[in-house]
Amino acid sequence: MYDYLIVGAGLYGAVFANEKRKQGKKCLVIDERNHIAGNAYTENIFGIEVHRYGAHIFHTDSKEAWEYVNTYAEFNRYTNSPVARYKDEVYNLPFNMNTFHALWGVKTPAEAKERIEAEIEEAAKEIEKNGGDRQNPANLEEQALLLGGRDIYEKLVKGYTEKQWGREARELPSFIIKRLPFRFIYDNNYFNDLYQGIPIGGYTGMVERILDGTEVRLGVEFSKVKNDILEECGKGCEVVYTGSIDRYFEYTLGNLEYRSLEFRTEVLSQDDFQGNAVVNYTEYEVPYTRIIEHKYFEEFGSLPRKARENTTVITREYPANWTLGMDSYYPINDDKNNALYKEYEELAKDQRNVHFGGRLGKYKYYDMDDVILEAIKDSKE
Ligand SMILES: Cc1cc2nc3c(=O)[nH]c(=O)nc-3n(C[C@H](O)[C@H](O)[C@H](O)COP(=O)(O)OP(=O)(O)OC[C@H]3O[C@@H](n4cnc5c(N)ncnc54)[C@H](O)[C@@H]3O)c2cc1C
Repeated sequence: MYDYLIVGAGLYGAVFANEKRKQGKKCLVIDERNHIAGNAYTENIFGIEVHRYGAHIFHTDSKEAWEYVNTYAEFNRYTNSPVARYKDEVYNLPFNMNTFHALWGVKTPAEAKERIEAEIEEAAKEIEKNGGDRQNPANLEEQALLLGGRDIYEKLVKGYTEKQWGREARELPSFIIKRLPFRFIYDNNYFNDLYQGIPIGGYTGMVERILDGTEVRLGVEFSKVKNDILEECGKGCEVVYTGSIDRYFEYTLGNLEYRSLEFRTEVLSQDDFQGNAVVNYTEYEVPYTRIIEHKYFEEFGSLPRKARENTTVITREYPANWTLGMDSYYPINDDKNNALYKEYEELAKDQRNVHFGGRLGKYKYYDMDDVILEAIKDSKE
């Protein structure tokens, strides 16, 4: 007999189970994958923690979330400072004085602002010459040009965005890019949050400790065992479902859409491959969007080298069209899909003792700190 059956051993499921366990409840966690930690899963390959579902960097402004994760893992001081490669050129991200200097040779914030304003004005005139309206960008291309001018658009936005969305920037709606985050200081730290880091020893170890004391069964898909497992859990058992809400309802109203990714990982017999954890490839002709070199999430500065020398692990990320059955990574929160999600939400209200949570259950892109805070909050309700 269990108080809660939690479907999904990702961060939401693990934190929810942990909080309920602390309240004296008995939880059973199942996951169809053969590992815990959901998309944050890391696998140790030759001493290197490999982020199996893409780079996961913990960053948050919430003291509560930061203290929570630090209870279960020691965090390093990793600071995400990606690099962009466009043809033979290399730029620092996010857009900051280092980027502007590499683009135009400007050295002060005033020079950079002046240059960007001139670039934007030139782009606006070009758009108007072609019959467009600078106040109402017709598509993502016009929006990006009006936010940053042609150099930034062509070299750092266009190809990357087109690969990500699988469509030309001119065919994408302008609202996808609301602003370009410019920083007029020499600072390559990607995130503005107060706290940032990577759990030393990987996310899997952290989630293992969060799940300590909770029964977990892996390789178990809910719909295949539904009747038996609900019977085993007992009458008053409540279900917390962190899988896709449309899948729970067997797609009765149709399926929600996602963007997917394909990860191709290689172990290389060399010390270093790219000298940074994350390198974005911003030209369209390179088919992947970025390469992750995993050892650099944990090895930097003068820290002693933990991972074996002469070995490094890299992963290329290829954006992929999503079809039913593939891993669902990024929800497409456009009007059509949001409306469908609302309909599923209505269906969910009629399900007694079933709660939906996490990024798939809520059909929303959540960072890890959001998911942890939501699970803590839900566990109290
Ligand atoms: C490519 C990528 C990069 C990201 N990078 C970052 C980052 O840098 N920083 C950050 O804060 N966040 C990042 N995130 C977001 C982060 O992955 C999520 O916030 C977090 O993993 C969500 O946890 P979750 O428990 O809701 O979902 P998940 O991690 O998806 O866990 C859900 C689990 O439920 C299981 N499941 C689903 N359906 C069933 C079923 N029917 N039966 C049994 N099991 C089932 C799945 O197998 C999965 O293990 C990234 C996400 C992606 C896709």
